[in-house]
Amino acid sequence: MNQSIMVVGAHADDIEVAVGGTCLKYRAVGYEIVYVMATNNMSGGVSELLNDGTVRTTMETTLPMMARRKRECNDAARALGTTPIHLDHPQRHYTGPDGKTPLELRYGCVLPDGVPPNAPTILTACEDPASIDRLVRLILEKDPEVVLTFGVSQMNIEHFATSLLATQSYWQAVENGFRGALLHWRDAHTRHGEFNCRWETFVDYTPYLDRKMKLIGLHRCQMPNAHLPEFGHRLLGVRWGQACGCGAAEVFTWVRHADYRDTQGIVYPPLTLELIQNTK
Ligand SMILES: [Zn+2]
Repeated sequence: MNQSIMVVGAHADDIEVAVGGTCLKYRAVGYEIVYVMATNNMSGGVSELLNDGTVRTTMETTLPMMARRKRECNDAARALGTTPIHLDHPQRHYTGPDGKTPLELRYGCVLPDGVPPNAPTILTACEDPASIDRLVRLILEKDPEVVLTFGVSQMNIEHFATSLLATQSYWQAVENGFRGALLHWRDAHTRHGEFNCRWETFVDYTPYLDRKMKLIGLHRCQMPNAHLPEFGHRLLGVRWGQACGCGAAEVFTWVRHADYRDTQGIVYPPLTLELIQNTK
């Protein structure tokens, strides 16, 4: 196993929001970040913070949206010393050529600009053998100590689908000899029940709280208010930190520990050690 972390997000800002603190902390002690971006980021709007404190969002068509979000994604990844690996699964919807009408990608429809034929959307990627195989090969090639992705309890169906894709691929990699761990990061919503807000372990990123918010803020079109003290993701990190007995935390559930069965006299690598020590 390499001293690296593989992180799999659906949209350009997911990784920084969910595990930016973990990535910053372990990058600082020499970990490589394998940054995997599952969708093509073609959908959505551009938000800007106005002088009166409100946020205005305008919709953007597929090609400029993709370009903008990938640019921001590359900037954030660069701050983590890495470059994103874009899987480019099309999102499920997008803004039409008039810049206003929301359209949905469906079987047999005309494809929007920038979407190649025969690319499964993120919603069905987990059922597509070629898509799974590509991620399996990436896991085996990079051989990370830990893979981090969404849990399956998600408000956003593209987050859910990315969890299925990454988790499915992880198990197939395990069948092919991969021995690293898989953890799901947690969301803070209770829509599917309080149970889904529980966690088993955490990473204390207290010294990196400000830097994490700066990292999130690199996604300018989505997070124009990341610098504010009342920014939601900052407050959540602090709240989880209080619950975990530190200043700021990112929280996880274990899907599988790393397999150290045949290793004699093992010394846990730093991230694994923290996750094990923090497991309740
Ligand atoms: Zn997202």
